[in-house]
Amino acid sequence: MENFPTIAGLQSFLKGQRQLHQSIGFVATMGALHNGHLSLLERAKAENDVVVCSIFVNPTQFNDPKDLEKYPRPIEKDIGLLNQSGCDALFLPAVDEMYFDKEEWHLDLNGLDKVLEGASRPGHFAGVTQIVYKLFNAVGPCTAYFGQKDLQQFRIIQYMVEKLNMPQKLVRCPILREPDGLAMSSRNVHLSPSERQQARVLSKTLFWLRDHLTQKNALKEAWDTIVREGVEPDYLALINGHTLQAILYDEISSTRDEVAAVVAARVGQTRLIDNYIVKPTGHTVSIL
Ligand code: AMP
Repeated sequence: MENFPTIAGLQSFLKGQRQLHQSIGFVATMGALHNGHLSLLERAKAENDVVVCSIFVNPTQFNDPKDLEKYPRPIEKDIGLLNQSGCDALFLPAVDEMYFDKEEWHLDLNGLDKVLEGASRPGHFAGVTQIVYKLFNAVGPCTAYFGQKDLQQFRIIQYMVEKLNMPQKLVRCPILREPDGLAMSSRNVHLSPSERQQARVLSKTLFWLRDHLTQKNALKEAWDTIVREGVEPDYLALINGHTLQAILYDEISSTRDEVAAVVAARVGQTRLIDNYIVKPTGHTVSIL
């Protein structure tokens, strides 16, 4: 695997690959790689000639400096995993390669950035779109693979790419979970053994919601289950996957859009998010 700390180096490598008519798959990460990330790389490898992975802990998307500081950065281990996964190029820029100055710009995301994670972490999606815009500019036309784990992030990047007519094709990949259902996340390493047990309530509750969609007080019951486990929910909602707005109980049956159950919660000091598509696009459910 080639390792590029600069945009110019990466672009010169990719120019050579494009001259050889190689298709390019791209996976953007913040490192601390786990099987969820590796599943994106595997899919990118299966569908493209050349795979590029970026590792960049993007400071502008952290609104809590402590969270940024304690974000895990096991770079040697990550490089080993990338080599094993057959990744062709690692883009590993320093902060000043991506940002020259304090950048205040943000895109109008039509309110998609104001709900859920955006409401809890003001400025988070301004930071996400800044860095993804810059990474896409560095990589150029490609197919980019993102996880459904960050459902709102994917929808916002999709909106940005559509609005700005960007040349990247986007693929949303399924969430990889631990055998007990916990969504894999770089933040899981912060969980103590007892918190790790408590964290199981999140996925369990989402699966329960999928099975009790037609029950009118399901959300309230699900919220109470999380609280009883000693986990502190930030939000728990059923949303329209396209608009990201909370969906009214009566709309669940009629909408043709995807419906997702989404949750964010604090387990001890660690904030975790998860989601589950409770009704895929075009499906209907009947509510009695
Ligand atoms: P991150 O390093 O957390 O920024 O994540 C990089 C990419 O990996 C994003 O597209 C995430 O949605 C994706 N990802 C993170 N966790 C998982 C998971 N458990 N399953 C699938 N994809 C994931």
